[in-house]
Amino acid sequence: MQDTTPTPNMATRLIHHGYQPPAGFEAPMPGIHKASTVIFPDVAAMRRREWKDKSGYTYGLHGTPTTFTLEERLCALEGGRHCVLVPSGLAALATVALALLRQGGEVLIPDNAYGPNKAMAAGLLAQYGVRHAFYDAMDPASLAAAITPATRLVWLEAPGSVTLEFPDLPELVRICRARGVTAALDNTWGAGLAFAPFDLLGDGSLGVDVSAHALTKYPSGGGDVLMGSIVTRDAALHLRIQNAHMHLGLGVGANDAEAVLRALPSMALRYAAHDRAARTLAHWMQQQAPVVQVLHPALEGAPGHAHWQALCGAARDGEGAAAGLFSVVFDAACSQAQVDRFCDSLRLFRIGYSWGGPMSLVVPYEIASMRRQVPAHLRPGHVVRFSIGLEGVDDLRADLQQALHQAFGGA
Ligand SMILES: *Cc1c(COP(=O)(O)O)cnc(C)c1O
Repeated sequence: MQDTTPTPNMATRLIHHGYQPPAGFEAPMPGIHKASTVIFPDVAAMRRREWKDKSGYTYGLHGTPTTFTLEERLCALEGGRHCVLVPSGLAALATVALALLRQGGEVLIPDNAYGPNKAMAAGLLAQYGVRHAFYDAMDPASLAAAITPATRLVWLEAPGSVTLEFPDLPELVRICRARGVTAALDNTWGAGLAFAPFDLLGDGSLGVDVSAHALTKYPSGGGDVLMGSIVTRDAALHLRIQNAHMHLGLGVGANDAEAVLRALPSMALRYAAHDRAARTLAHWMQQQAPVVQVLHPALEGAPGHAHWQALCGAARDGEGAAAGLFSVVFDAACSQAQVDRFCDSLRLFRIGYSWGGPMSLVVPYEIASMRRQVPAHLRPGHVVRFSIGLEGVDDLRADLQQALHQAFGGA
């Protein structure tokens, strides 16, 4: 259809104009390609094209040059071979679950996992006849004991959500492997930078089967995009996920894919900056009077610190790598009103969920309502989580100091 019959009809001429820009354009950023419809040169090509293997293009939902490029870069980031993109991190968790679970099957989730993953198991998955159980990620024996012949999927998360205890991830993966159960990691915290999810020991001998990642956080880096990825190494496993993805009609917008492609080159630098500032402030918070505990896996004495050290300690020439998150426990003698006042008094830290963006954020949590069991290592008190952004660390410290003074007075 390139050689359209010349027509005086401007509507037609604007759609079927034959101009082609010269080939040979190259720039640091890949072009953005937008499509629902993909055009085939002829019917035979349309019949021949395969949507699954990236050998061609069939429909916007099945990929464009833009999404293929992003998928390949995410495979490089996480050390995988196959990737699918979904509209949020939670959609990544849901797609894995729907791809791998069926009626009568069972999923195991750490009690300290990202809350909405647990809620999905108790809600939607239960509705489809999938059972679930929670295990204690800090006690590998509790995972071994929870696996039954019906177990089809085990979720892993390192560290745990909000309380940030770091599990013995290689040991948990070994248990899954020994029992022939698929091990899927929510790798949002590690982000492909703190450790290699498909090569946990650095010798190619042990890795997870699936890495799900909320690109919403560090890969986006802007606090302005929602996206998720599911990376695998095994072709058959990828195909099951890809089929579920296709049947669910999931895809991502080209502008959002572009935003993530734009942010990926600075991700390692940003991650290191978030990490260093978070550790500086976590240490400082340890010395503040109303704080009875600081939860950050790189801190000496933190729950699972040795596991963090073993998995992430070699990164960045021995500095180790961690995300920009920590939580503090304010003394149980403080009132909730004081803790809320502290959060409200912060000026640079804004109140909001999520993390990985430029702006520092704070959220108070009530752990007892989120867990089947409150972790034994958690000191009694009020938990507040901080996500450290990219502001000047001195300014953030001063902000914490003035808010501590406003809420708790004195020293
Ligand atoms: C944010 C987050 C998700 C969900 O990502 P969304 O894009 O917000 O849906 C999943 N897991 C973890 C650990 C997260 O922090």
